[in-house]
Amino acid sequence: MAEKIFRINMSDLTTSIEDVPEGWAGHGGRGLTSTIVAAEVKPTCHPLGPNNKLVIAPGLLSGTVAANSGRLSIGAKSPLTGTIKESNAGGTAAQILARAGCKAIIIEGQPADDKWYSLSLTPDSITINEETDLIGKGNFNVIETLESRLEGKPAILTIGQAGEMKMSSANISIKDPDGNLRSSGRGGLGAVMGSKKIKFISVDSKDGKVAIANPEKFKEANRVFAKTLLDHPITAGLGQYGTNVLVNIINEAGGLPTKNFTQGQFEGHESISGETMHDIIVERGGKPKHNCHAGCVIQCSQIYNDANKEKLTAGFEYESIWAMGADCCVDDLDKIAEADKIMDDIGIDTIETSVAMAVAMEGGVLEFGDGAGILRILQEDVAKGTGLGRIIGNGAGSVGRAFGLTRVPVVKNQAIPAYDPRAIKGMGITYATSTQGADHTMGYAVTANILGVGGSIDPLTKEGQIELSRNLQVATAAIDSTGMCLFIAFAALDDEKCLPALIDLLNARFGIALTGDDVVALGQSILKTERAFNVAAGFTSADDKLPEFFYSEPLPPHNAVFDFTDEEIATFWDF
Ligand code: SF4
Repeated sequence: MAEKIFRINMSDLTTSIEDVPEGWAGHGGRGLTSTIVAAEVKPTCHPLGPNNKLVIAPGLLSGTVAANSGRLSIGAKSPLTGTIKESNAGGTAAQILARAGCKAIIIEGQPADDKWYSLSLTPDSITINEETDLIGKGNFNVIETLESRLEGKPAILTIGQAGEMKMSSANISIKDPDGNLRSSGRGGLGAVMGSKKIKFISVDSKDGKVAIANPEKFKEANRVFAKTLLDHPITAGLGQYGTNVLVNIINEAGGLPTKNFTQGQFEGHESISGETMHDIIVERGGKPKHNCHAGCVIQCSQIYNDANKEKLTAGFEYESIWAMGADCCVDDLDKIAEADKIMDDIGIDTIETSVAMAVAMEGGVLEFGDGAGILRILQEDVAKGTGLGRIIGNGAGSVGRAFGLTRVPVVKNQAIPAYDPRAIKGMGITYATSTQGADHTMGYAVTANILGVGGSIDPLTKEGQIELSRNLQVATAAIDSTGMCLFIAFAALDDEKCLPALIDLLNARFGIALTGDDVVALGQSILKTERAFNVAAGFTSADDKLPEFFYSEPLPPHNAVFDFTDEEIATFWDF
């Protein structure tokens, strides 16, 4: 099936299915969303206005049986950061879109009236329907309602109340194979979907298939590739304890941001650790291992039950648990799980919202450790869009401005995630230089700084950190284009068979002859495309820095500060 671009204009409610322009054919996932946003969106446009576009693209290997290839990239100009943005997540949508022959969806314009709509896609049709019943409803209600309203098992992308209210932390949620939600969480892309007045998108592939140029070579490459993932000790650990295995590791390293980034270790870390979570899940009959899309062999996700053995939340990630736990000083995993579920339902980024809560605690809105207070504010304020709810729903920077605070952990207005840059300096370089604001997934320097993956660099020294972050950001941009889950990176960095097998998969899929150098060039060109968009939007090197308190407030227990000069950070772009 030839791949097509599915274009929807929400200003005049017209649609078209177009040939893929030649220059876009070699791109997928993040490479494609960023290429399209850079080509079609005016960098200075208002992110919530009619000139921004929401671009949705499966990866180059999505829709095939390649292990871990089901990530979906969503891009736009971000209402949170003002930069270009790509956020990727699992769920069934990437596989189904690819099998429907969809190279990318481009949603542009904005309805002139106040009506809400949904989109329904098949391989040869796009339908725009007016939507009324589900407006104002949370994501779980949307998924449940559509289970009975729609035929078959379509992919569903949806926004909750946060997206409808165009909060800058609103996410886009994607249904997984078991009806759980996965989130394109960062950067407020749910607000962009809300600004287009689209409540949900459904996709039916009509049993379409992705063509493979060389099926035998593809099968063999996938066998080798999957084995490298299964053999790596870190990916095995992810399968046992989920990403939350990191709580004890990062706490031990003194880099677990605690009490709004004032400490590097959390007294209550054992209560919220991956090991504790694993025991609770097993004891309550949950699922310690679960995949967010078919074909994942790592299975870092899980189903977490409440004390009555009923499902409470799924896909319970380290970054969400850290943010609501250590950063807000809540040491009760059940309360954190409840907050996670509410945030999934409202459709709001768990990292941004929880860091915003910790900043609000510093501003006196709640006491640190008040888990019940957090639940109340999420339900009574954020979900209902009160004044306080909108301040929090617009992110940590918004709370800092509203309460006149200076300890506000954001870069380009996006909350810094679960690794303190004073104790893990490679992550500080990634936060400062990422084209998308503070984002750990852009260049995960925890690998060499803490985990000893792909080499080892002392997390407290400056030496080697810029080069490390640059190499990781280039590799990540390329991996994000394949549709692969980022957790393949551990094997890719350590096992010499992994990366060649991934390149073999791409070559067998398309009948091409990519080399390792081509993959590096692809990653570099994506970063440069994104950087050029940001520069045209008004960003300069002066924006590539951390908030002042990281340079002046020593972080216990190492009492380290972030000590890179602006000139040193600027060398990141010397390639
Ligand atoms: S390893 Fe985790 S995040 Fe990655 S594809 Fe599997 S379940 Fe999803």
